[in-house]
Amino acid sequence: MKAKEIAELLDEPACEHNKKSKSGCAKPKPGSAAGGCAFDGAQIALLPIADVAHVVHGPIACAGSSWDNRGTRSSGPDLFRVGMTTDLTEQDVVMGRGEKRLFHSIKQAVEDYNPPAVFVYNTCVPALIGDDIDAVCKAAQERWGVPVVPIDSAGFYGTKNLGNRIAADAMVKHVIGTREPEPIPGFAHREGIKVHDVNLVGEYNIAGEFWFVLPLLDKLGLRVLCTLSGDARFHEVQTMHRAEVNMMVCSKAMLNVARKMEDQYQIPWFEGSFYGITDTSEALRGFAKLINDDDLTARTEALIESEEKRIREELNKWRPRLEGKRVLLFTGGVKSWSVISALQDLGMKVVATGTKKSTEEDKARIRELMGDDTLMIDDGNPKELLRIVKDYQADILIAGGRNMYTALKARVPFLDINQEREFGYAGYDGMLELVRQLTLTLESPVWNAARSKAPWESSVAEPATVGLPLTASNEPAANDVVEA
Ligand code: SF4
Repeated sequence: MKAKEIAELLDEPACEHNKKSKSGCAKPKPGSAAGGCAFDGAQIALLPIADVAHVVHGPIACAGSSWDNRGTRSSGPDLFRVGMTTDLTEQDVVMGRGEKRLFHSIKQAVEDYNPPAVFVYNTCVPALIGDDIDAVCKAAQERWGVPVVPIDSAGFYGTKNLGNRIAADAMVKHVIGTREPEPIPGFAHREGIKVHDVNLVGEYNIAGEFWFVLPLLDKLGLRVLCTLSGDARFHEVQTMHRAEVNMMVCSKAMLNVARKMEDQYQIPWFEGSFYGITDTSEALRGFAKLINDDDLTARTEALIESEEKRIREELNKWRPRLEGKRVLLFTGGVKSWSVISALQDLGMKVVATGTKKSTEEDKARIRELMGDDTLMIDDGNPKELLRIVKDYQADILIAGGRNMYTALKARVPFLDINQEREFGYAGYDGMLELVRQLTLTLESPVWNAARSKAPWESSVAEPATVGLPLTASNEPAANDVVEA
């Protein structure tokens, strides 16, 4: 990829960060790819397209270290879970055999699995030795008659966010608009309801959580042409240009898809979240507002009213067990405000939140929800996080899986909210799952047991207080990883 193309992707006009700096995103600093390189970001963004053969062109570690690192689910094909790599070795590099290996790897993927398309991800080593993956993909596509899409995402180009945009750009350039949606007889009107086509961009169906949302859209007569990319199929991505509205589910990840589709196909878009009752309702209203169909607006309000009533009745049964509990939320981006809203719906108090990956707009929404004097943690290290847990008397740390051991070493209840989590929290029913997991975590008997003195230290074991002082045994090491 040329430097000019990278600069263009970094300079995304629809991104809030651009309003602060004329030149778009800052150039990556050494070490900034530690939270995921551009290849990692590109693969994360597209891997959930379930029926595609995803071939990683590079040494085995690029594919091996990132394979299946997100809990995205498919309702059908699972080819995306088969790790495919060209497994470049030193000999291939020295003998200049990279392109040949890639060509044969695509052949093997097509012959063994007969996929509707092959995606080829470029990584650092072939980019450095100058393999022409565009030419190889073109030759392979002509040879086997299957779309072969190059995604030039070498890790050293930049961070994970840049990789998301590279992936999105590849979809706009090579895939979106290459097929028309299947006409379904009688579908344009179903039971007297006019059906509208929509897309969701940046929804990854982590732990299957989008399946909590899909029935709601279905009830409203909103046909999801494609979710980019949770539980998606290649042919669905091809038809995205026919949607009436795009919803950006994750604020920064693939903003360029929404913006470019607005430019090229005049599809309006809005940003929203399905975490929490309030935000789920707002997201449904967002579709109705942009589609501007009075009947849809009326049905949306009726659905929101009945769903909110139903779910609040269910949640009220759990509320006494969670109300007033204090939370330290350490996550990034859109989740920093959308999860606050979900926790406030449950009567919990968020004492501080991480904002490392949040945009200025995200931060403004946090202030709106929590007040101006809220504590925002831009770059927490393990020791600092535990200090905040103690000083602010947090009952639980909600964060990404990488912070799990920091919390557990300090014997602080912990709930995983990021992509590795096992449970889906989206939509109204996702709130019920969140409330169940929060209660199970907070009420687990393990905390009292872990905080008690060992039987040989005292004849009567007494529970210690929450937020233990750091000792040699639980103090985090300086090199413990903390990532929002
Ligand atoms: S693409 Fe580069 S930075 Fe990313 S995993 Fe591979 S070698 Fe590492």
